[in-house]
Formats: sequence, structure tokens, C-alpha cells
Amino acid sequence: MAATPSSPSSSPYPHLLAPLDLGFTTLKNRVLMGSMHTGLEDGRKHFPAMAAYFAERARGGVGLMVTGGFAPNIAGWTKPFAGMLASSGAARRHKQVTDAVHAEGGKIALQILHTGRYGYHPLCVAPSRIQSPISPFTPRELSVGGIERQIRAFIRCAMLARDAGYDGVEIMGSEGYFINQFLVTHTNQRTDDWGGSYANRMRLAVEIVRRTREAVGRDFIIIYRLSMIDLIPGGSSWEEVVLLAKAVEAAGATLINSGIGWHEARVPTIATSVPRGAFTWVTKKLRTDLRAAGLTIPVVTSNRLNMPEVAEQVLADGAADMVSMARPFLADPEFVNKAAQGRSQDINTCIACNQACLDHAFKAQLASCLVNPRAGHETELIIKMTPAKKRVAVIGAGPAGLAAATTLAERGHSVDLYDAADKIGGQFNLAKRVPGKEEFEETLRYFGNRITATGVRLHLNTRVSAADLIAQKFDDVLLATGVTPRNPRIPGQEHPKVLSYIDVLLGRQPVGKRVALIGAGGIGFDVAEFLVTPAGHSTALDLPAWLAEWGVADPAEVRGGVVRPQVSPPERQVTLLQRKPGKLGAGLGKTTGWIHRAALKMKNVEMISGVNYERIGEEGSGLGLFITFGEKRLDGTVLAVDNIVLCAGQEPLRELLEPLRTAGVKTHLIGGADEASELDAKRAINQGTRVAAAI
Ligand code: FAD
Ligand code: NAP
Ligand code: SF4
Repeated sequence: MAATPSSPSSSPYPHLLAPLDLGFTTLKNRVLMGSMHTGLEDGRKHFPAMAAYFAERARGGVGLMVTGGFAPNIAGWTKPFAGMLASSGAARRHKQVTDAVHAEGGKIALQILHTGRYGYHPLCVAPSRIQSPISPFTPRELSVGGIERQIRAFIRCAMLARDAGYDGVEIMGSEGYFINQFLVTHTNQRTDDWGGSYANRMRLAVEIVRRTREAVGRDFIIIYRLSMIDLIPGGSSWEEVVLLAKAVEAAGATLINSGIGWHEARVPTIATSVPRGAFTWVTKKLRTDLRAAGLTIPVVTSNRLNMPEVAEQVLADGAADMVSMARPFLADPEFVNKAAQGRSQDINTCIACNQACLDHAFKAQLASCLVNPRAGHETELIIKMTPAKKRVAVIGAGPAGLAAATTLAERGHSVDLYDAADKIGGQFNLAKRVPGKEEFEETLRYFGNRITATGVRLHLNTRVSAADLIAQKFDDVLLATGVTPRNPRIPGQEHPKVLSYIDVLLGRQPVGKRVALIGAGGIGFDVAEFLVTPAGHSTALDLPAWLAEWGVADPAEVRGGVVRPQVSPPERQVTLLQRKPGKLGAGLGKTTGWIHRAALKMKNVEMISGVNYERIGEEGSGLGLFITFGEKRLDGTVLAVDNIVLCAGQEPLRELLEPLRTAGVKTHLIGGADEASELDAKRAINQGTRVAAAI
């Protein structure tokens, strides 16, 4: 088995694009599309869409893909009636997926996912009867016979995957799922042959790999996803991780993939504020130990790898033999082909927001992608050339206008895109200034290049009026003029020390050391993060600082790799307020809200809900925000601060609509101009793309 990349000198990414010889088959490059739950797994009717989804990514050049997780039996379901591969009838349905992938020259493995105590249903099972903090269901403790039945279910699932035409399976052994639950005493308190010593605790993992290999034969890929750093107290020690890796290699695994952190871990592992490649050092550590022991099994690294340059560097450093990326293939199915053509600047980069992928999966919605709304909707959102070319004006080059203008031009329309600002991006130019949101710049780079490639005529520094547009006789006008900050009408808010979030984020006004923020939506949280962070010290760009701040340690020094966080002091004393009672940030993303809240708590941000803003006035040498609580306006108090920042939401900006419609111009509203309430870039880009696809 060769695990050393060959380096064709003409290749723009010689390590990334080198083939990988697995002995019985060769992968065309070192890119693994990692498993990602899209919801297409959970229902027979979705199989044609799943086939189209994977076929498009196979066409895009990825070396090996892994499906979202399929349970091997009912006990292993993620939720009631979740995707399962346990019968030959189900295997026949999968054939359309494997056939579509093979027709495009791709390779695909099926992930076998048994959730154990993470199962969101009453039939879940586990080594011991210990409820997880992320599920309301307490698992049933398995008998010895029950464990044997789970092992057989894994093997049957792998054989059915083979019958269905898959090139291999990934055995999900990480992220705190069933197999992982056997490995650590935190969840395995058995006293029989499946608990106690580490040899007993790892028996399940090794038996599953060994007996799967015996069942499927030699020429079938078995990826074992191994938890290399659990990020929970009492997780695996490093000796145990290495021992397990050696044992699964001996048991017949073809590839070892990296698992980073259990789902219940209190350390973010893939959010946008996590530095790129933040955990590749863990994979490198394991690979080094395996090589020192003379083992050549290829090792795959993962987490926050989103551009070819980063992936190439990781491979060149000897951290791994392959890189796994999941979300970047939602964002851009053409990722590998673009890299191979030296067009990495044309890649639509995953910004790690989780808003349309993981957040959807957790809400039982089909996963898609904020920057690419076609993801998961390939059979329904079709961008095709228009038979009737039109002259179209798009007003506003924020996310909605950018998506609309480039989609229209790609379809053959003649497009003029106007923005009053001196650059494209709209509010993304504010978002990208928030520490931990630097990735948002990538979306603007992508759209900038796509404007050039599609031939959109871009007019910056141009605030257009209705009269201009009427005079130019466009066939259609798309208003993507966005939003304007809401005026909260608090008595005294005209004080010069009361600032808008725009002034603060653009650095137009100095901000003192004590700040109150009025409004605790997405923008209030972002402004708080901006204010507590010293300028130029975003930990998303500083891996050692980020690891220290979240308490991530070398797993060779401490079990599970978690220690007490070392938090640097906040730059300012910030108070975040909202009128609603209850938890602040309740409306933030399901998979990222807890990170924003935890990050601000670490910086001692005070969070106050249920307030009435009575007035703003002078208080001592600074400013006073007078608040009361509840409907009866009780417990009046004054917050003495240096500045107050208004983050009180936004309203649509669409003053052009009325005159255009009165003049009979065909006008469409998209993004914030259409609806400001609960607006985000996901809706703006999706709406812009869909309206443009239909003109
Ligand atoms: P906008 O982005 O507001 O763009 C409107 C554009 O129209 C502007 O460029 C403006 O100059 C131009 N314009 C207006 N009038 C005219 C005119 N008459 N002539 C010419 N040009 C005109 N969303 C998320 O989904 N996830 C996040 O994490 C996130 N973080 C954010 C962080 C911050 C700090 C901010 C401020 C916003 C964030 N958002 C986030 C919100 C997101 O940026 C908006 O939902 C999105 O930008 C709305 O897109 P839009 O195209 O409708 O409008
Ligand atoms: P928002 O999420 O709607 O929050 C507005 C905040 O202002 C709320 O806390 C609201 O709380 C308060 N508010 C509303 N009316 C007020 C009034 N009249 N006086 C005082 N306070 C008032 O809007 P946003 O924070 O401006 O964000 C805009 C959009 O960008 C959001 O829809 C969001 O989805 C998106 N965004 C997303 C992220 C992300 O991480 N996903 C980050 C930033 C922005 P009370 O009414 O309880 O006081
Ligand atoms: Fe990446 Fe966000 Fe798209 Fe998910 S929704 S794939 S995190 S850009």
C-alpha cells in the first residue's frame, strides 16, 4: 500500500492531486469528501436527488466520497425512521446512487453510523445506561447478546453496501457515537468482556472491523473514523488512541480517518471561528506514531480545511496522506477540478457558518449551503441558458444582488449591477470585520471573480435613482438595496456617544472601555465580540491562542485533550441587553449559538434580558442608560458607560420600489429590500439565485 504522494511537477497542488494507491484500487487524488448528513438519506423519495447530488460532486473530480450516515439497524437510528441500510430492498435503492457516481468516474463509500446513546429516539442502546447531555432519551444497556446483534448489523450493512455497488464503507467510530461510547469509561461502565480494561473497551471497534473485512473480502475500502482527540474530560488517552489505530489497521482497515471531538464537547471544532486546519496536528501526531511503528496505512485529516492551498500545505507537512472536506463540497462541487486547473480563486469557499447545512440537519430540514443554494437541490434549482435574452438592472451588490446578477449573466442575460458603495458585498463588509468571521471575505472574492467571468457590468460608487432606471428602459429591475438600521426611538439617543453598529465596525468613531449594546440579535453578539477583542488579535487567525482560549491540550499530556481554558482579558467591559425575557442569543444558529454565548461569557460580557430602555443621559463623567424591568417597569437602574451602541435590528430599504412600479417597470424585490425580519445571507443568496433562475 503506497502512502507517499508522488509529485507531478506540473500540478498546481502536487500533494493534493497525487493519486493514492490502495493496493486493490487507486484513488485519483488525495481528496475525500467527508460524510455529511444532508437529510437526503432519510426517505426513499430522496434517492434520485441524492444520486444527482453525488454525481455532480463526482463530476467535480473528488477522489473518494462518503455518504451521510446510514444506520445498520433501528437501534442505531439518528432519529425515528432515519436512513438505514438493513435489507436487500434498501440496497437496490442505493444502486441508483452508486451507478450515477460510477458513470461520472467517481468512487463512493457508505458511512455506517450507529448513534448509540446519541440516538434521538426511545429505542437507543449503549454500553451502559447513561443518558447523553444532548439527547432526552436514556439508552438501554446492551446485553452480551445485544452487542453481538449490533456487530452483525454492522457486517450485514457493509455487505449490503457492497451489493449496492459502493466502493467501500466508513465505519463511524468517532464523535461520541456508539463505538466511541464503548472506548471510554465515561460512557462504558461494564464489568464484562466489553468493559473495564482498554483491551475490553476497544474490542467492539476491532471486532467490527475484523469481521467486516472477513465478510466483504480484500478488494473493498474500509475507512475507520477514529476519535483522535475526544475533547471531553475522561476521554481516551493518547496511548489508547495509538493502540486502537494499530489494532484497526491489523483488523483490516484501508484508511484511518480523523474524528475530532465528541458532539457533547464544549469546544468548537468546525465553526467559522475555529482556525483553518486547527486539528491537523493531531492527525500528524498519530501518523508519526504509526510510521514509527512501521505501519503505512494512509491517514486522513479533517476539520476546517476549505481551500486547496491549506490542504496542500497540510499534506506537504506530512500531517496526513489525504484530506477530508465535507462542507466545502456543498459550497462548490467543482472544488477539485478548479484546483487542478489552477483556478482556486474561482472556488466558492465554505465559510463554515453551518447555517444551511448543520443547522438544517438539526432542524430536520434538508441540508443546503448558504453560499450555494443549489446544494441538495440539484434536481430542482436548475440554472439554464435563457431562450429570451433581457436587459436587467440589479440595484445593490450585497449577497442578494451578487447572487442574482451573476446567475442572470450566467444564463445569458445582459446585466448591469449598481452599488452606492465603493466595493461589492453590502453588509458582508461589516460581517468580515468581526473576529472569527474573516472567512466572509472569501465569498466577496468569489463573487468578484464571478462578476468578471460572467460579464456582469459593475457600477460602483453609483447610487441610482428611480428616474435613472426608468430612463434606461430595462426589461427587469431587481431591487437588492438591503436594509437600514432600525431607529429604536429611545429618549436621549441623539447623544454623540450613542453609536450605530456600522460606525463601530467600520472604526468611524472611538469606543470607550465600558459599552452597553442595545439589542442582542446576531449583530449585537458580533459587535460584542468585536469590542472585547483587541484590534488585530482574532484567535481565528492564531492557532496557539485559540487552543489556549478553548482549553485544548496535547492528548498525549492529558486524557481527551481538554484543560482549563486560558482566557485573555477582554478589551472592554461590555453589557448586552434585550427587551425580551429569557436567554440572550436564543435566535442564533442551533450549532453555533452556544459558541457565541460561551465566547462572550469567557470575556465576562454581562447579558441582561427583559429590560425597558427608559432614557439615555449624562451620568458622572460618562453616559447613563436608564433601564427598568418587566411590564410594570420596576427595579429602575442606571448603567454607567462610555458608549452605547444601537444594534436594534433593521428595516427594508426600498424607496425605489414605488416610483418604478408606478412607471410600469417590472421590478422584483430580493434580500433585505424584500423582508428585513429574520433576514440573513442564506435567505438573501437563495432568493437572489431563485428569482434570477426564473427570469
Ligand atoms: P445588503 O447586504 O444590505 O446590501 C445592500 C446593498 O445595496 C448595499 O451594498 C448598498 O450599498 C446597496 N444600495 C442600497 N441602496 C442603493 C441605491 N439606491 N443604489 C445603489 N446601491 C444601493 N448573515 C448571515 O447569514 N450570517 C452571518 O453570520 C451574518 N453576520 C453578519 C454580521 C454583521 C456585523 C452584519 C452587519 C450582518 C451580518 N449578516 C449575517 C447579515 C447579512 O450580511 C445580510 O443578511 C445580507 O447582507 C443581506 O443581503 P442584501 O443583499 O439583502 O443586502
Ligand atoms: P435581529 O437578530 O432581529 O436582532 C435585533 C435585536 O434588536 C434583538 O435583540 C431585539 O431584541 C432588538 N430590538 C428590536 N427592535 C428594537 C427596538 N425597537 N428597540 C430596541 N431593541 C430592539 O437583527 P440583527 O441583530 O440586526 O441582525 C440582522 C440579521 O443579520 C439577523 O436576522 C441575523 O439573522 C443576521 N445575522 C446573523 C448572524 C449569525 O451569526 N447567523 C450574525 C449577525 C447577523 P428585543 O426586541 O428583545 O429588544
Ligand atoms: Fe459551509 Fe455555511 Fe455552506 Fe455549510 S452553509 S457548507 S458551513 S458555507
